[in-house]
Amino acid sequence: MPNNNKELILSAPLSGPVLTLANVPDAVFASGAMGDGIAIDPLNDTLYAPCAGEVIHVARSGHAVTLRADNGAELLLHLGLDTVELQGEGFSMLVKEGARVSNGQPLLRYDVDKVALRCKSLVSLLVITNGEHFQARPITLKGVKVGEPLLHVVAKTPAETQDEEQAVGIEVFGQVRIAHRGGLHARPAALIRQTAQGFKSRSQLHFQGKTASCDSVMGMMGLAITEQAEVHVSCRGSDAEAALHALLSTLSTALAEEAHAVAPAVKAQHRSAEAGVLHGVCAAPGLVAGPLVRLDGIQLPEDAGRHNVEEQRQQLNSALGHVRREIQLTLENAKARRHRDEEAIFSAHLALLEDPILLDAAHLAIDQGSAASHAWSRSIDVQCKVLQQLGSTLLAERANDLRDLRQRVLRVLLGEAWQFDVPAGAIVAAQELTPSELLQLCAQGVAGVCMVEGGATSHVAILARGKGLPCLVALGDALLVQTPGQSVVLDADGGRLELAPTAERLAQVQQEQRRRATQHAQQEALAHTSAHTRDGVNIEVAANVASRSDAAQALASGADGVGLLRTEFLFVDRHTAPDEEEQRQAYQAVLDAMGDKPVIIRTIDVGGDKQLDYLPLPAEANPVLGLRGIRLAQLRPELLDQQLRALLQTRPLQRCRILLPMVTEVDELLHIRQRLDTLASELGLSERPQLGVMIEVPAAALLAEQLAEHADFLSIGTNDLSQYTLAMDRDHAGLAARVDALHPALLRLIAQTCAGAAKHGRWVGVCGALACDPLATPVLIGLGVRELSVSPPQIAEIKARVRQLDTVKCACLSAELLNLGSAAAVRRACHQHWPLG
Ligand code: PEP
Ligand code: MG
Repeated sequence: MPNNNKELILSAPLSGPVLTLANVPDAVFASGAMGDGIAIDPLNDTLYAPCAGEVIHVARSGHAVTLRADNGAELLLHLGLDTVELQGEGFSMLVKEGARVSNGQPLLRYDVDKVALRCKSLVSLLVITNGEHFQARPITLKGVKVGEPLLHVVAKTPAETQDEEQAVGIEVFGQVRIAHRGGLHARPAALIRQTAQGFKSRSQLHFQGKTASCDSVMGMMGLAITEQAEVHVSCRGSDAEAALHALLSTLSTALAEEAHAVAPAVKAQHRSAEAGVLHGVCAAPGLVAGPLVRLDGIQLPEDAGRHNVEEQRQQLNSALGHVRREIQLTLENAKARRHRDEEAIFSAHLALLEDPILLDAAHLAIDQGSAASHAWSRSIDVQCKVLQQLGSTLLAERANDLRDLRQRVLRVLLGEAWQFDVPAGAIVAAQELTPSELLQLCAQGVAGVCMVEGGATSHVAILARGKGLPCLVALGDALLVQTPGQSVVLDADGGRLELAPTAERLAQVQQEQRRRATQHAQQEALAHTSAHTRDGVNIEVAANVASRSDAAQALASGADGVGLLRTEFLFVDRHTAPDEEEQRQAYQAVLDAMGDKPVIIRTIDVGGDKQLDYLPLPAEANPVLGLRGIRLAQLRPELLDQQLRALLQTRPLQRCRILLPMVTEVDELLHIRQRLDTLASELGLSERPQLGVMIEVPAAALLAEQLAEHADFLSIGTNDLSQYTLAMDRDHAGLAARVDALHPALLRLIAQTCAGAAKHGRWVGVCGALACDPLATPVLIGLGVRELSVSPPQIAEIKARVRQLDTVKCACLSAELLNLGSAAAVRRACHQHWPLG
């Protein structure tokens, strides 16, 4: 009885360069319809058995033979393409059906010259024909010699390894058209993995005869599923129906970044010979000059082999753990700052780092005596080649994400420094920078980056655009032979790297750089002065912060105060709740970091999308519409009392303002006012901090007048207000382009909020993301907003914008915007009335 649990390493049946099936010049084999496998362009004249087994079929025309390996895998060995038409001429079969063969035994010999002349191609295939039970994972994609390890055959999770849950569950199937632009690349694949992991069922994608588990981002990318392709999905387990439903929805919803018009910023340049100029593709626009600095990747020394398996496994695991923690930090950072692109890219990296295909291959190499560094590097190389050979530019570009993980893990394994020594203002040249390298270079203040390889839709390009860092890709090998230190001009808009700019040209570019820098410096210089409109109205520009260090940065950036301290930062990523004293110290630290400026501290807003380990909230069908924000007072009043007590003990209380999230009716506000009074009396306080209400649900905006009667101020949370007004999940990747707070419906709610507040002489601020959008500044001021709370790096720019405006004009034009029909129309009108500088 064949044991189909057993893994199998197939050795090369031929010598020659190795190709993935996708690269075979034959539509049927390339599509995977015959099964998964690998191909070799042979240089020798004999086909050998890749493993021991039984010959179960010999083609009458002598060009192909099928073996059944001892683990049950059925392997078709097919010599050349369209060789069936030769009717056996030039082939001599050396084995018979039913024969038992040993690994490396010759199976058939052929006349190389004769066959090569008469067939379409000598490219030969090794295909697993019972692929429903097995998966093939290439061990190498470099040239091989007969007998060298070539393919890892892994039994697909057989019944006995499936947990009971899956074994007893039902299996359901569905079919869907892929909506993701460019097909199923790393970010959508990571999203699908995340969706699948939310269920107990085991889910798989099936495409063109191949199958991949939804647990593996690599496996899903390896299917090379194109945009609009039809894919089958299967789920097995007790919650199979729900899993299938969720997966079909994720597969058929494009990502936000794809839906946004990123492409227009990406221009392929027309290449024409021009002395002293390298031509590339613009990945992020800009014009800068600076010294060229070259950055090289890690080179591994030769591996002597025969390493201690346990030791190397441990080294690899601990390096992977280290990198995982690093990526998690980047992710948390991106999440806290709501940098969606960064978040999606590094979430995909995290998923890749746990990918079973990468890990299995690395462990297999370690088991064969490789060093952890070489095993990891080789596993990544093989999968990079797989991606590059799938025939999709987008998937080929994702190989760079794998290279990122290779570099990061190797750095830990080799104990290399993580920081580069690159001077600020430099133009960095590299073969291809990885996403994490780009983030680091950006933090070090480089002027621009250019690469030999890369694509304008790669993750590095997305990050460069997000950071405003000029970036050229696909400049070719000539880039790396340039003398480091030479002054160059990076004209990313024009797709040109000028290697020998004249003094005049350098001066011209430097002048433009200086103009922009001066403008920026002028804005920065005035950042610490209060911002008044032309007609003398003071607009407070405060900062949104999540910690003491954010607050220090905000003060240094010129913030007039903290407009929103999200206190969740104290409560998340821990196993026990912070006590009263710990909370008091944390709030006091933020107040201290802000000098004499006011600080608005929002009471905890958990529930919805933010859950705490130690505060299990009841499972809700619709958590975003459930017990979140101030509604916590209804469920766990003692928690809110504890926070209010901590806040009441900060000093000076005049600078501490309390803000309540998710208020929908006046009673909620009155209840907290009353609790504050009671707690303050218990603490012997005569003073009370100001108490404000967030306007982030339509009910609150519509009741603004009644709320303002009892509140000291109102602060509009445009993120949730958009979500609840437009009935669109604020985190829905496919709807992100449409969750636009400049929608006229929201503008009407903002106008109503300001009018209601004005009746009681209260001021209104905006602490949602709309405050950070300079296009929205005149509209918000026009509608009556007098405080904008933004992220610290934007303070100077928003203040500069305020100083260009006239409130009366803003009020007139904003009133007209309320009559428009869509956010897009509002944006167009804003560009017309108040062009951005
Ligand atoms: C908002 O909803 O606009 C807001 C500022 O709060 P958060 O983003 O924390 O929900
Ligand atoms: Mg909110």
